[in-house]
Amino acid sequence: MEVRICYLYPEMMSLYGDRGNVLALVRRAEWRGIAVVVEEVGVGEATDFSRYDIAFVGGGQDREQALIAEDFARRKREDLLAAVEEGLPLLAVCGGYQLLGRFYRTADGQELPGVGLFDAWTVAGAPRLIGNVVVESDLFPEGPRTIVGFENHAGRTYLGAGAKPLGRVVVGHGNNGEDGWEGAVYKNAVGTYLHGPLLPKNPALADWLLRAALARRYGREDAEAALARLDDAIEEEAHRAAIRRAQETAANGAVRRSV
Ligand code: GLN
Repeated sequence: MEVRICYLYPEMMSLYGDRGNVLALVRRAEWRGIAVVVEEVGVGEATDFSRYDIAFVGGGQDREQALIAEDFARRKREDLLAAVEEGLPLLAVCGGYQLLGRFYRTADGQELPGVGLFDAWTVAGAPRLIGNVVVESDLFPEGPRTIVGFENHAGRTYLGAGAKPLGRVVVGHGNNGEDGWEGAVYKNAVGTYLHGPLLPKNPALADWLLRAALARRYGREDAEAALARLDDAIEEEAHRAAIRRAQETAANGAVRRSV
């Protein structure tokens, strides 16, 4: 078996260890004997997304977002939407997530075009929303699970009626610090504000992406058989430590929401 990963705009969109998400996918596949190919795709490069099994785009500052927004929303849009429509798993973090909505209006009023994959839009505000985050998500078939990470964004993202959130904020700000939602999901595409990187300490989410990727290419039964259980003791401890740290900051007066 093989998994082909498309790493979009790696030079401009990789804040706070976002590259580690790709490494986590690569390792978790290789530990199960699945071969992995990672292809980096930048501005100006045409992309047939149907060739890939997973796409990833990380976060970036407004400056980097401005440099890629036209290319993303014009040159890559159609192929990406078509591939996601027929099941391509995708993970987009922060700046990348913002550009998958309809638009992102920056602090200086510039409106960057979005891909329109998520029925969502983002407007920069103040103060920046910064800190450790715990989300409770219904994404997983085995039941609700926590997802942990770190957020640092000026943009406030609002979901339209056509968008489903990734989860509900337990600690932190999430999409906009107002409505209690974090991230967005459409088919097998996930957008989130969570850096960290996200996948090493949320192995269930990494495997959710790998499972969707393998099921799309090889069928559900073979995907399940290929995804042998790994010893995730260290990953789970990192996950629990992130929850403890987030709860400590919440107890010290930072934001907190109850589920
Ligand atoms: N520039 C965006 C914001 O501040 C995204 C930042 C990021 O990717 N961390 O909202």
